[in-house]
Amino acid sequence: MEMFKYSKRVPKDGSDAVGEILKAAADPKIISFAGGLPAPELFPVAEMKKATDDVYDENGKEALQYGSAKGVLKLRKTIAKRMLDREGIKTDPDHIMVSTGSEQVIDLVGKAFIDSGDTVFVEQPTYLCAIDVFKSYGAKFVSVPMDDDGMRTDALEEALKEHPEVKLLYTVPNFQNPTGRTMPADRREALAKLAEKYDFMVLEDNPYGDIRFAGEHVPSVKSFDKSGHVIYMSTFSKILAPGLRLGWAIADLDVINKLTVLKQSADLHSDNLAQYIVAKFFEENDIEKHIEKISQLYGSRKKLMTDNIKKYFPKNVKFSDPEGGMFLWVQVPGVKDTTKLFNMCIKHNVAFVPGVPFFAGAEIPGSFRLNYSNMKEDQIEVGIKRLASAIKEVLSEQTVAVNK
Ligand code: PMP
Repeated sequence: MEMFKYSKRVPKDGSDAVGEILKAAADPKIISFAGGLPAPELFPVAEMKKATDDVYDENGKEALQYGSAKGVLKLRKTIAKRMLDREGIKTDPDHIMVSTGSEQVIDLVGKAFIDSGDTVFVEQPTYLCAIDVFKSYGAKFVSVPMDDDGMRTDALEEALKEHPEVKLLYTVPNFQNPTGRTMPADRREALAKLAEKYDFMVLEDNPYGDIRFAGEHVPSVKSFDKSGHVIYMSTFSKILAPGLRLGWAIADLDVINKLTVLKQSADLHSDNLAQYIVAKFFEENDIEKHIEKISQLYGSRKKLMTDNIKKYFPKNVKFSDPEGGMFLWVQVPGVKDTTKLFNMCIKHNVAFVPGVPFFAGAEIPGSFRLNYSNMKEDQIEVGIKRLASAIKEVLSEQTVAVNK
């Protein structure tokens, strides 16, 4: 029995599994691959300070005033230009809405498209906060299987035949959180066509696409969209700093205007000062150079991690080898209870995020997410060695239990 008369939207048990995991991992003895933070040593603090000073000098009064719900025009122009150059998305400031973190776009899209009982397709596994958002609007989930190339569009078509009522599909096609997988161009094109054919919206979430340290850039799903069924979203969190809380959505004019009305009810507009500062930062600095620095660092940390996984983990362990982003995904065959493995890891002073919360449906046992972006080089080898010992201990305990 709840103490107060909460809405159905509030999770019943009030527990925060991920919060508990991060709390356990926060012990300074523990090497934690659990978080999902960018490397703070690359935040461009001095450049942001200069941009801030310049904004105060040149536009202080406007930046401190209330602003437009869609966002500061100068920033939306900056975004439109970069989206064309980088993603092949032909757009203009009218079709762009600045959001409070890109997380807000997930929430507003949920609010705009999902009524209780509506069907939402997600990748299996998917970004856990998106599951929480869609759940809060009463979504019913269908999980679309993935392989090393992301969401399988053949499996998607099967699922569409079974669930033609679907209203929304959520995908992270580049260096997905949690798996690090990337969807190739042919699947993206197929997805855009299926969205038109079956008349459902695609929410293309691309926070990590810029952080590529290997392979070739793949065009966005939105660049294949001819019918307006794709909503694209991204963020300044990974290429600049997450504390700014600035992201954006690009969509058909009707959709973006509806999202903007909902945004106005949520928070009137995103932080005006932060928007002016980011637009100024883009004017004064070469963002592509900055992104290259981030990509190089994450690429070398990823390599260190996979080299050590190959060296220390049992040989049958599967792991993704991402070409960008911040995460890789491990699946240990034979592990029946990932929570048991997590607890064993805590005993060995190492942590990860167990796979369970990333699944809207059934979990693939023995899977977990590792973060490499926020981990110092000397900690990676030690942490992976500890993880290997914990895996071996759990597997041998299981064997003993079976043999008893
Ligand atoms: N989508 C994905 C897939 C993410 O991993 C994150 C951040 N962890 C977000 C959206 C939200 O990021 P932000 O609100 O900082 O833009």
